[in-house]
Amino acid sequence: MATKSTAKSMKKTESSRRPPIKIKPGKMLIDGEWMDSCSGRTFETINPATGRAITRIAEGDDKDVDLAVNAARMAFESGPWPNMDARDRGRILAKVAELIEKNQEELAILETMDNGKPITQSRTVDVPYTADTFFYYAGWADKIHGETIPVRGNMFNYTLREPVGVVGQIIPWNFPLLMAAWKLGPALTCGNTVVLKPSKFTTLTCLRLGELFMEAGLPKGVLNIVTGPGETVGEALARHPGVDKVAFTGETLTGKEIMRAAADTLKRVSLELGGKSPNIVFADADIEEAVKGALTGIFFNQGECCCAASRLFLERKIHDQFMDRMVSFASKMRVGDPLDPKTEMGPLISEAQFNKVMDYIDTGKEEGAELACGGKSMESDGYFVRPTIFDNVRNDMKIAREEIFGPVVSALTFKSIDEAIESGNQTPYGLAAAVWTKDIKKAHAAARQLRAGTVWINTYNAFDAASPFGGYKQSGFGRELGIHSLELYTQIKSVWVNLS
Ligand code: NDP
Repeated sequence: MATKSTAKSMKKTESSRRPPIKIKPGKMLIDGEWMDSCSGRTFETINPATGRAITRIAEGDDKDVDLAVNAARMAFESGPWPNMDARDRGRILAKVAELIEKNQEELAILETMDNGKPITQSRTVDVPYTADTFFYYAGWADKIHGETIPVRGNMFNYTLREPVGVVGQIIPWNFPLLMAAWKLGPALTCGNTVVLKPSKFTTLTCLRLGELFMEAGLPKGVLNIVTGPGETVGEALARHPGVDKVAFTGETLTGKEIMRAAADTLKRVSLELGGKSPNIVFADADIEEAVKGALTGIFFNQGECCCAASRLFLERKIHDQFMDRMVSFASKMRVGDPLDPKTEMGPLISEAQFNKVMDYIDTGKEEGAELACGGKSMESDGYFVRPTIFDNVRNDMKIAREEIFGPVVSALTFKSIDEAIESGNQTPYGLAAAVWTKDIKKAHAAARQLRAGTVWINTYNAFDAASPFGGYKQSGFGRELGIHSLELYTQIKSVWVNLS
């Protein structure tokens, strides 16, 4: 097994020499105040490019969760938020979006230092898409309404669409800001109050976002942020009787634990979980475009994407040509200091994730898959793994079945559309899939037959705040983004009036 302790130290990276912004220790946001944890404990947040601590963060536990849930409950029951003019709620969300844009460079640097993703990506994807999500949901605030229903008899019947109440939101480390926006945008626009738990690996941008919410005039207690490990803070939130709904993004096994913890109080649950997404390239595709799509599909965000294109299905007759092109590009990808604008791939999030990915690479070799490129770490104190392509993989191999969550793709071949669809669907997951072809009939037929919440045709990783995202099968349930996310954060009341 590879571990970082065996890797030789390389010269210090730019990010370790010169932190480009001032970073303070992280406190929790509870009832509009920035607080230490009840226990006084703290933990280090690590820069994955250097393996060194960036700062210390308050380590919450169930007592802090209790305080935060009580604050959110008070803000929901007696605060102005759920009852204020909807358009004014929208204005506050729009103000947050503006503040994100105003502070975009600082947020991008923080995200890159804490997570390891390339700064170019933080600047062009994570931060602008976060602002866009808040702008989008700001616009929904005054458009969420009930209906009148033509019932029998001399009765007037109408519905109210009301917020669910106190929402617990547990988010992962791969897109810290963006996942916060996907959850907070719809929850807050509907009038809910929130306790947010970022991953212990990536708290910094969520805490900065909390400051921007305060600056935008969010009433106290509407957004609370409790930092600390999932097993304590996350578990306490999922179990807490004062929480009406829990929304989670992360690993499928954790999602199952959350459902169990939420069951006692019958909380509403929405889950966005893992994936093993098939990326299917037919021989009639635009091969250059498909190669680019396959590369971004798996190597974007170091492969730490729930929808990563981790299984690449190639029609047999284009296999050699496609692999040559893909391997040639992948071998030349610039992996290194994520604060360098030229870097295309940064480090993995943590030593544990690095070890997990390197173990999968070893397993792939042992299973008999052919290592076409990569498969190596870099000599560094950071958690860097080179873009890795396995060829001649079978669908029953472990590397083709399990979510690796790193820059590792398994290439397989097929002869017919039926074989491609059948193999693509042979997974307990169903988050995303893609097909590449110039034949419009084939493309739409495949889109219908693939059991996945998102199907991309001749593209990969296309996202918009207005378009729903979520899983089939064990990739979860409930749809985030778009109008669909409003369903997760509202409930319907039927009101009857006797007119006779
Ligand atoms: P987790 O599913 O464990 O973490 C996601 C979030 O849940 C984090 O905030 C985490 O907190 C929290 N959490 C962890 N355990 C519990 C619990 N028992 N109850 C409530 N909340 C909990 O993913 P990891 O970050 O540990 O990564 C493990 C693997 O999960 C990765 O290797 C990857 O394969 C997969 N993953 C999938 C993601 C996806 O979007 N599909 C996203 C992230 C990971 P904390 O981090 O503070 O412990």
